[in-house]
Amino acid sequence: MRIDIATLFPDMLENYLSQSVVGRARDKGVFSVKCHNIRDYTLDKHRRVDDTPYSERQGMLMQCEPVYNCYKAVAGDKRPHVIYMSPQGKILTQQRAKELAQMDELFILCGHYEGVDQRIIDEIVDEEISIGDYVLTGGELPALVLVDSVVRMLEGTLSKADCYEDESHYNGLLEYPQYTRPEIWHDKQVPEVLLSGHHANILKWRHEQALLTTFKKRPDMLDKLELSDADLAIIHKNKGD
Ligand code: SAM
Repeated sequence: MRIDIATLFPDMLENYLSQSVVGRARDKGVFSVKCHNIRDYTLDKHRRVDDTPYSERQGMLMQCEPVYNCYKAVAGDKRPHVIYMSPQGKILTQQRAKELAQMDELFILCGHYEGVDQRIIDEIVDEEISIGDYVLTGGELPALVLVDSVVRMLEGTLSKADCYEDESHYNGLLEYPQYTRPEIWHDKQVPEVLLSGHHANILKWRHEQALLTTFKKRPDMLDKLELSDADLAIIHKNKGD
């Protein structure tokens, strides 16, 4: 997968994208990502990329031309899927990240200041994505959230698909509680079944705990699932806890 990110602050992104799991996957060639400084594509002699909005609003708006020039220079004859990070977009979900992980080329546009001129959205953007119902100063953090959520599902980023398939949201449930050494900490004991080495019982425990965790923390998520009678019985039995 190839990812291009158009931004006024490439260094903000580069720092994150060159470290830890994402940085290692990038170094291994699991995906490529390039951050393009939109300011390099302005024809203004003072390198300006923004101007005041016609609506007489305070603040500055990013102009179409530098963004368009950047897009054309990067995309060439290709037609990458273009995403504008925006608080007006559809909220990012695991499901959407999963779908985007199937695509070959993404071009991500980060707004700043008051955002971007509507005409550039109309001209090049396929999809607006938000990371939540709040407003940030720029699209850089949202772009990192999006890239991270997508690339961790590419083959080769994590050691096994289980690493993300077993996690919260992948199959509509939250993850079961996790424990590591020591077996007893502050008088709190790791559940016996996890020490038993009995694979089938551990799998059963994990599923039950995922159900119960979701029921307790995010019951709204269960409304979207078709639960079996056995699953409903587990929830019913533990309702009083
Ligand atoms: N004036 C815009 C509005 O009210 O819809 C908000 C502009 S915001 C201050 C600047 C930039 O930050 C946006 O262009 C967008 O790229 C990014 N941004 C802010 N909040 C975001 C969110 N929740 N999700 C994705 N991007 C966001």
